[in-house]
Amino acid sequence: MKLNGKIKLAIAFIITIALFICIYFYLYRNNEAKDISYIEFMEYVESGEVKEVKLNSSPKLTGKLKNGTEFITDNPRTENFKEKLLLSNVEVIENTSGGIAGQIIPVVFMLAGVGVVLYIIRNGSKQAEKEMANMANMEAETSLSKRITFDDVAGNEEAKESLKELVDFIREPEKYAKYGARMPRGVILYGPPGTGKTLLAKALASEAGVPFYAVSGSDFIQVYAGLGASRIRELFKKAKEVGKSVIFIDEIDALGKARKGANSNAGSEEGDRTLNALLTEMSGFKENEGIIVIAATNRIDTLDEALLRPGRFDRQIEIGLPDVNARYNILRLHSKNKPISKDVDLRKVALETVYFSGAKLENLLNESAMIAARNKDNMITMEHINKAYFNVLVGEEKKDRSSITKEDKEITAYHEAGHALVTKRVSKKNKVTKVSIIPSTKGMGGFSLNIPPDKMYQTKKDIENNIKIALGGRAAEEIIFGADYITTGASSDLKKATEMTISMIGSYGMDSDLGLISYDVIANSNIAMDSRLVERAKAILNSFYEEVKNILLQNKEYLDALAHKLIMEESLNEEQIDKILDF
Ligand code: ADP
Ligand code: ZN
Repeated sequence: MKLNGKIKLAIAFIITIALFICIYFYLYRNNEAKDISYIEFMEYVESGEVKEVKLNSSPKLTGKLKNGTEFITDNPRTENFKEKLLLSNVEVIENTSGGIAGQIIPVVFMLAGVGVVLYIIRNGSKQAEKEMANMANMEAETSLSKRITFDDVAGNEEAKESLKELVDFIREPEKYAKYGARMPRGVILYGPPGTGKTLLAKALASEAGVPFYAVSGSDFIQVYAGLGASRIRELFKKAKEVGKSVIFIDEIDALGKARKGANSNAGSEEGDRTLNALLTEMSGFKENEGIIVIAATNRIDTLDEALLRPGRFDRQIEIGLPDVNARYNILRLHSKNKPISKDVDLRKVALETVYFSGAKLENLLNESAMIAARNKDNMITMEHINKAYFNVLVGEEKKDRSSITKEDKEITAYHEAGHALVTKRVSKKNKVTKVSIIPSTKGMGGFSLNIPPDKMYQTKKDIENNIKIALGGRAAEEIIFGADYITTGASSDLKKATEMTISMIGSYGMDSDLGLISYDVIANSNIAMDSRLVERAKAILNSFYEEVKNILLQNKEYLDALAHKLIMEESLNEEQIDKILDF
């Protein structure tokens, strides 16, 4: 039986202790026995006070008086001694262990024990070495080391419910086997990064009280041929030896990317081999063993279908970005251990953090705490959080603001004001919570944050509005500075606008000219791409661009006012924006 390092050490420790206790009692069990002379002993025999005698070939013998006293005395070792005792109505127990053998046995026993302990420890460290070399990134955590429970995960209620069911499956697979219920072998958690997928898998392991093995799909790429596959086998071998466990594979898309026929190159061949090893291992373990594989990915649509077939990762759970309530709960959870001032309204913070993942919210509070600590303030205040909000979104503010040229500042101000103005103009329901022109370390010129209403589906109108908002920056530049002075600052806006347009007409069937055909299907097949898709997208983008320019021209006073305020203040909050855009 091979166990993981920590368990081995614990067992070795327990065995050692137990062994010493045994040996102690074995060697010193006669300590309480009264040492009496042979003459005294014979007197006891004669007076019928001896209950029993343990006879052996050692120089000493032990026994018990009728009153319960244990004694030890010299062993005459004569032929007729036993008969004499029997005739005196003494119970004789033939006991060989007190003899030479009896003295050797404890020694042998001890040596054997020490051997076992050494073997376990040595083998444990050998295994650890092997792990360090082979599986640098594989961490095995027993539930004892970091107890993360489902209570540590806020939001994601449905995902939690679904995983809670598995706790029982892992704990008592036999119970389910009795009813012929098959335990799910694999679960895929999919959703944006930082939404708590790893956290959920850890919570599952610790709530079920089983070890947690984590690897990342990206560890398996860029390795020598065949190594990925052998790592997978090693991982499962280990899990099986331990018995019940949770195996977590992060970034499974790195090895399970959809295989696209002719597109596959040498690099993905290695991925294929690793993937096949994973599939083989997953179908290899018995159904009710209590091993479950949890995989995480940001994009389920790129996964190889083989992974999603029944008996593999047949449960898929979406882990979405938190809604406003979940954000509030996450903020509360992570502020528990922090001194938060009374002026901080976490509900308001939650409202202002649309699209923030759990990790980002945690980061926000952490950043706030660091700012408070740096300022040596007693409490984390709203001011710290606002500052942190900015840092989390765009990285640290550039310390030396004078390095921004006046022209850059103006261009950025109009560009961002353009986005903000279009946002408010295309829909009354849209909010702009912040506009800024402070360059970030991430290299953005500035940003305009808009909050679309929280809802499940996007309508065609919503998508069109978002495309127009994305075009607002470039349109403002052109109106103010002229067509020859437009900048490179709009490149990511144009990328976004193009993506949204292509999706709208190619994936969602929202264009009457192109109809309901899904161009995703065509892109994934060998059918030649219809050039009309690009033509339509171009036409739509051009007409929207003209429309956006018109909106801005008609609202030029607002655009100027917002841009000028931005140049002065550098960043504006929702209240300030609404005061200027008072339509
Ligand atoms: P993922 O695996 O989805 O990328 P993680 O589970 O690694 O995300 O989350 C990173 C960190 O973000 C967590 O350790 C936790 O501090 C925080 N976090 C993310 N989601 C949540 C959540 N739903 N509730 C509480 N904390 C969260
Ligand atoms: Zn822009």
